[in-house]
Amino acid sequence: MKKELIIAFDEVLSNSKKIIIIPHKNPDGDALGSTLSLNFFLNKIGHKSHIISPNDYPDFLKWMPGQEEIIKFTYNEKRSKELIESADLIFTLDFNNLSRIDELEPLVEKSKAIKIMIDHHENPSKYAQISYSEPSIGSTCEMIFNLLYELNKNLIDEKIATCLYTGIMTDSGSFRFPSTTGKTHKIISNLIEKGANNSEVHQRIYDSYTLDRMQLLGTALSNLKKIDSLPVVYITLSQEELNQNNFKKGDTEGFVNYGLNLKGILFTVIMIENEQDKIIKMSFRSKGSFDVNQFAKKYFNGGGHVNAAGGISHFSLKETESKFLSAVEKIKI
Ligand code: 5GP
Ligand code: MN
Repeated sequence: MKKELIIAFDEVLSNSKKIIIIPHKNPDGDALGSTLSLNFFLNKIGHKSHIISPNDYPDFLKWMPGQEEIIKFTYNEKRSKELIESADLIFTLDFNNLSRIDELEPLVEKSKAIKIMIDHHENPSKYAQISYSEPSIGSTCEMIFNLLYELNKNLIDEKIATCLYTGIMTDSGSFRFPSTTGKTHKIISNLIEKGANNSEVHQRIYDSYTLDRMQLLGTALSNLKKIDSLPVVYITLSQEELNQNNFKKGDTEGFVNYGLNLKGILFTVIMIENEQDKIIKMSFRSKGSFDVNQFAKKYFNGGGHVNAAGGISHFSLKETESKFLSAVEKIKI
């Protein structure tokens, strides 16, 4: 971390009293891990801060230390608005464009608070006075570790370590994606020494399938299609298929990755119908140099990283599939 940045954080923290921390909509392990650990740290140095999430998150994250205190905007609009209006410092974590917080966007834009972005996605936008943006780092939790370590490493305790471990683990595909470095493993070593129970965190996140979820995975895998003459596969899941398996939020998390378990496959996609929001949620994953961030941006109003990105389609599932098939004809892979 650059020295100027650490000084800027130090200064702004000593001058702020009403602090809000915001993760992106549909927060994942990294978004929650980073917000929760920062919140614990701020409390330890004497701040009363609040986390406001744009919406709820899946059950497999509902064991994380401190998560019961998170205010969910969709359930507490009035309180969230009041807190954001009176804040003098707003941290935005694990996203770099205010469109990722949906209905919170206008509130944050209007707020007079100093805004801080800490994030590892490509193409950051410029809404924050202080930006710690590092797309080469595998997770926002790794960046929060860097920050807390510089501010006061002695304050990293078991709860903070557990939250950071969770985010680093989930965003690195359990330490297998190329963004995982020697430094990542040194940080993980430090977090385990501070009390993160690695085996327990793995079990809580990954061994928590319901029977319905496992059967939905079966449906997804039997829908998987390979594109002739390209190292590309994709999965579709219709609302009807989700309903048949009693779909709950978070059930499809990680399904997209299965495509890359096939030998030789370099690009995999999942398209999931959401009848209520009238959208198809897309997830893209790749191996090697094929840039899914660019693909998502160009064709599906999305973004993310080189090897993991997401996007949205406002067409039907069938039309989205056709649009994807004609887009994929144009790629070099
Ligand atoms: P996922 O496929 O797991 O939803 O997301 C993969 C990555 O892409 C994550 O880093 C996520 O933050 C980013 N991402 C997912 N959906 C969107 C989207 O609609 N827009 C943008 N810009 N990024 C997204
Ligand atoms: Mn992340």
